[in-house]
Amino acid sequence: HVKTGKKGKIAVYDAALDRGRLRRMEIEAEIGTGLDKGEFDVFYQPVIDAHSGQIVATEALIRWPRRAAGVLVPQQFIEIAEATGQIHPLGMFVLERACRDVGPLGDLSLSVNVSPAQFRDPGFLRQVAHVLEQTRFPAGRLQLEITEGYLLSQPETAIRTIRSFKAMGLSIALDDFGTGFTSIHYLRTYGFSHVKIDKSLLVDLGPGSKASFLVAGAINLARGLDMEVTAEGVETHEQAALLRAAGCDRLQGFLFGRPMPIADLRAMCAQGTGDLRQGPPALRAL
Ligand code: C2E
Ligand code: MG
Ligand code: MG
Ligand code: MG
Repeated sequence: HVKTGKKGKIAVYDAALDRGRLRRMEIEAEIGTGLDKGEFDVFYQPVIDAHSGQIVATEALIRWPRRAAGVLVPQQFIEIAEATGQIHPLGMFVLERACRDVGPLGDLSLSVNVSPAQFRDPGFLRQVAHVLEQTRFPAGRLQLEITEGYLLSQPETAIRTIRSFKAMGLSIALDDFGTGFTSIHYLRTYGFSHVKIDKSLLVDLGPGSKASFLVAGAINLARGLDMEVTAEGVETHEQAALLRAAGCDRLQGFLFGRPMPIADLRAMCAQGTGDLRQGPPALRAL
């Protein structure tokens, strides 16, 4: 492979030259054309109230059904988009689409994942306000999910940004709680409205298991600090029952529904909310 260097010099690499890097460059170019051609899609996973069994919220999750090239999962291309800056248009695409899709769904809350790079962008707050205005989506129904990596690197800025969003009426969730090093002190000072317990904490979650004590501790901690708790990755009735007993407010996972097109979520809301007994099997069993 041949590559033109910075000064126009030709550098020759051996074939092993990061196949990974070449692949990343390909994906980077494809993200660009994918955005132009409208290839990206947004799916929605239901979030269930642990006590009523009603669908109370939904998380927007980006999807990229590439024509011939096969599926890339978000973790693969989001990371590249973060490195190239393409996460900014990609993230705004998801936000706008999700506000339009979920807007008509009664008072369902909407959760949108936000990358650290977006959250760090000084223009982000204004862009979010603009999308809310354009789509007439009520700020009070929108939640932004952030992971702790960024928080630890820029605590002051993060706290300020979180305050500004909360002043606009949005809520902020700490995503993937339990996978990193968030200290109790940080949990207190950031002012999250929600925490989402990572699915890795639910592995081997059975009655009396070590996992159950860990999860119960995490739930108590968050609730003691006035945060609502969502568990994600709930796949079994046993997990759901344990989480509910431990005081978890909301449940999200394949047990209740995989991420799905908006039309399917709409159908699920139509039959699943209100009377539990008429909902889909997973809801009925709660
Ligand atoms: P996340 O925000 O923690 O989202 C939850 C992930 O867990 C989703 O994976 C979802 O499909 C998966 N999941 C939900 N329930 C279950 C379950 O019961 N079992 C299992 N095994 N998995 C479950 P997905 O859609 O592949 O997304 C992966 C990650 O990519 C997300 O993790 C989020 O960090 C990121 N991501 C997705 N969409 C966006 C986006 O629009 N913007 C940004 N910045 N990141 C996104
Ligand atoms: Mg999330
Ligand atoms: Mg998560
Ligand atoms: Mg994650």
